[in-house]
Amino acid sequence: MIGVFAALLAVPLLGPSPVKAEPAPPPQPTTLAAPATLVPSEPSPEQVGSALAAIARASDGRVRLGAIGRSNEGRPLRLATVGRGPTRLLYVTQQHGDEPLGTPAAIQALWVLGVPRSAWHRWLLSRLTIDIVVQANPDGAVRDQRYNHDPTASGEYSQPGVGYDINRFHNPLTPISDNPVPESRAVLSWWRAVRPSIVVDYHMQGRYLQPDGRETTASILWPTTPLAGADAVNRGRQLAVSNYQAMTYLAGANVTRYPGGDYEGIARNAYGVLGSASLLVELSNLPAEQVPAQIRAAFVSMLATAQGAADGSLWRVDPAAADTVPARGPSLPD
Ligand SMILES: [Zn+2]
Repeated sequence: MIGVFAALLAVPLLGPSPVKAEPAPPPQPTTLAAPATLVPSEPSPEQVGSALAAIARASDGRVRLGAIGRSNEGRPLRLATVGRGPTRLLYVTQQHGDEPLGTPAAIQALWVLGVPRSAWHRWLLSRLTIDIVVQANPDGAVRDQRYNHDPTASGEYSQPGVGYDINRFHNPLTPISDNPVPESRAVLSWWRAVRPSIVVDYHMQGRYLQPDGRETTASILWPTTPLAGADAVNRGRQLAVSNYQAMTYLAGANVTRYPGGDYEGIARNAYGVLGSASLLVELSNLPAEQVPAQIRAAFVSMLATAQGAADGSLWRVDPAAADTVPARGPSLPD
């Protein structure tokens, strides 16, 4: 997997040679460059909708658009799908409305996967069906707030009078009728409808130092709840190692392990409990001049996960290598 993308991104290969994969046509460099200005780095729901519509038109039907539900203010919870293969992937961006950068990365990935036509595209899209919930919290996005919009919100994992933290309401053990958060209900219901083998959830964090003193640009974590089965956790760890390598060697990211909790209502944990290989990706909130590189890192994560799932290399990764991802270091002073 790394080898395929290293060639086109002109990155020197580090580490051991990749395991021999199923024969796959290599992607051509010209087909993996998305237009840089499909959306701004913090797009409004309307800008997301316009960009997705343009991509769907340009893709000649290969990118299909829909909605998995509606927010409390009636905004569509946008779903974009590319590919018709048997292996299903689910990416989710911007559950927290003030953590936007996964959304422009998803727009770029949809363009790159859906618009050009090549032997590699036909190969990839015959193996995978990739669903992306683009900007899962549109009401929070328009307010630049973490929570969804719900003035009646109260109780645990809410900001009373403001809204709920969507990423605490994916608990698969809670009856869906008792779940007060439409965005979480919609993602859970979509998971149950299509049962993706891989779920990746894109967020943003503050600023931290690596153990070696460089600045962290991203942190990742697999399911840590004891309710997740050993097999799902192992596959989540393989996904983490694969993303660590791709983001480090192909996107120049400085990646650590995210110090996340064990609560099963967190998407990373919930979809592990349900049996998916599940991963959280947290992009650091860096200064404006580094934002394009941050979007690029999430884009590389999305494509590398797809490539590894399509050629099977993802499942030949040593899950124990996840323990070598360094722990996140101290917070940077403001
Ligand atoms: Zn978040």
